[in-house]
Amino acid sequence: MTRDNSVSRVDTIGDFIDPKLRPFIKLPESPSEKPHLIGSKCSSCGEYFFPRRAICPNCLKDEMPEDVLLGNKGKLYTYCIVKAAPLGFNAPYAIGYVDLPEGLRIFSPLAECDKEKLKINMDLELIVDKIREDEAGQAVYGYKFKPVSL
Ligand SMILES: [Zn+2]
Repeated sequence: MTRDNSVSRVDTIGDFIDPKLRPFIKLPESPSEKPHLIGSKCSSCGEYFFPRRAICPNCLKDEMPEDVLLGNKGKLYTYCIVKAAPLGFNAPYAIGYVDLPEGLRIFSPLAECDKEKLKINMDLELIVDKIREDEAGQAVYGYKFKPVSL
């Protein structure tokens, strides 16, 4: 079996997602669907969280915020291009903060690392893609944001 970076094989891609990230990613169930991040929303004050929270730090209501699918589009708040990568990662790659429609600013790898193509406030879209390789050289997948224009 060959492994590539595409998300077309949605039936098996879940097997390659980093186990630490798996609880936070809702994979598409058909090719027409898009992946989403799983966050939570406080039923009392309406605040959203990513990752999930066991209690709302905004209103401290004694009730667990409910799981929600977050929007899979966002805007680039800021970014950094990593040129000296830790073991398993291929440099250069970019990381950044992405503003989601729910008012969340989340940290995420970016699919583009050409600074000529990254613009603050540009529209981004969530994808599931290769993040790194494990000790055996196998691809490990996770979520990333890519420019909508790509
Ligand atoms: Zn709350």
